[in-house]
Amino acid sequence: GEEKEKKWFVGSIDQGTTSSRFLVFDGEGTPVASHQIEFENIYPESGWHEHDPMELLSSVQECIEKATESFIEKGHSKDQIKAIGITNQRETTVCWDTNTGEPLYNAVVWPDTRTTSIVKELKAKAGADELLEICGLPLSTYPSSVKLLWLLRNVDAIKQAYDEERLSFGTVDSWLIYKLNGGKDANIHITDSTNASRTMFMNLHTMKYDEKLLGFFDLDQSKIKLPKIVPSSDPEAYGKLTSGILSGTKITGCLGDQSAALVGQCGFNPGEAKNTYGTGCFLLYNVGEKPVISKHGLLATVAYDFGAGRKPIYALEGSIAVAGSGVKFLMNNLGFIKHSSKITELAETVKDNGGVVFVTAFSGLFAPYWIDDAKGTLSILDAMEKDSNHKLEGLAVDGADIIGIPVDRPLMRETTALGAAIAAGFAAGIWQDFSELKEINKEDRKIFKPQVDAKKSDQMFKKWEQAVQMCRGWVL
Ligand code: ADP
Repeated sequence: GEEKEKKWFVGSIDQGTTSSRFLVFDGEGTPVASHQIEFENIYPESGWHEHDPMELLSSVQECIEKATESFIEKGHSKDQIKAIGITNQRETTVCWDTNTGEPLYNAVVWPDTRTTSIVKELKAKAGADELLEICGLPLSTYPSSVKLLWLLRNVDAIKQAYDEERLSFGTVDSWLIYKLNGGKDANIHITDSTNASRTMFMNLHTMKYDEKLLGFFDLDQSKIKLPKIVPSSDPEAYGKLTSGILSGTKITGCLGDQSAALVGQCGFNPGEAKNTYGTGCFLLYNVGEKPVISKHGLLATVAYDFGAGRKPIYALEGSIAVAGSGVKFLMNNLGFIKHSSKITELAETVKDNGGVVFVTAFSGLFAPYWIDDAKGTLSILDAMEKDSNHKLEGLAVDGADIIGIPVDRPLMRETTALGAAIAAGFAAGIWQDFSELKEINKEDRKIFKPQVDAKKSDQMFKKWEQAVQMCRGWVL
């Protein structure tokens, strides 16, 4: 009954590219308390993008404190938070000293393109064409492997730690779980298979680190500590919080952010897909129990892996590096708006895009192009045909129109955090079966139907393709 379902709550850490959050969900997937903190994005040079690992940690810890305080103020007790799930920005690479537990450099963030020349070099190396089949990812600036290689070549402290066999590597999930467990003392160095599937070190078919992959990147496993790969939902492996208001609460779930969003949208059946707009934009398509290696520039990845005898589920992914960060660019660099949330209002002031195509290739272009050296461009292809009243002052974004299928949006949009809560809730015994989640987040969904015909949307797509070709190989 309702009483029983409402009794337990699950906490969810959502560590993203621009902010950290902590939400507390009830058994029906409704958030009852939350807190969010934006932290500094560091751009030391053009194309470089870093985070301070200690700030990622402190922002998460502060969110846990504040959200839990507000949870208690609402009349609940903190003991009702049965478990915590964690979801995180993927690929972002952290290196720390195994002996001290302290970071050796800033985290290199997923859209960072400092590795462009390393990627060029690796593409020419023997064995490069065998990687995709093993790990599902094409060589590009995106995965953790090339970021780690750059760090090993360019940061003395990291090279030295490697030589002295005290280098620990992790994605943001590993780093946070390690620190939340108390760091070097508990020494819980772990990752889930969805996050591991973004490093280029994991064999997608076996869910284990692969000698061939590590060999290709010249990594000597005796010199670097890689996180142990475990299922996304696990009652013991992830340890527990050792400080703060929720000290003692177990961490029982972990999913990369896009996997978490798929789970949060309950995309549990093959053929179900979700698209999430944040800093970037990521479409994940559930392909079931066998990975599908793409021939069309998509990534093969682990969708989720709930353990306890359940088979891991795979997805095809279309990764777009720039979505919300394009909105930020229009705001900060071109002065279009004062706040990101105003972009919709502005876009609605014009009836169409007036022939303007904005190719947001600030991090090269990801799926399905994988052009590392494409540069962002505002391309005016058709403007002259247009009514001269249309100035460059707005962009119409037509998700549903271009793809020609309805777009379905839930009212509660913290689906990424919800996904991590679901992974944690499964291991904590709050839910046992996906069928129990049937009603989760189903209320007040909004369906956007395509408003233009197929011919018009084909034309619009053709213009986009032309614009993409125009920004190939630009060097600014
Ligand atoms: P992440 O987890 O990647 O940090 P979020 O889901 O928090 O991402 O989204 C942050 C991004 O979304 C920012 O780049 C911001 O500019 C953009 N953004 C925030 N609100 C809006 C809005 N109402 N319309 C369009 N873009 C927005």
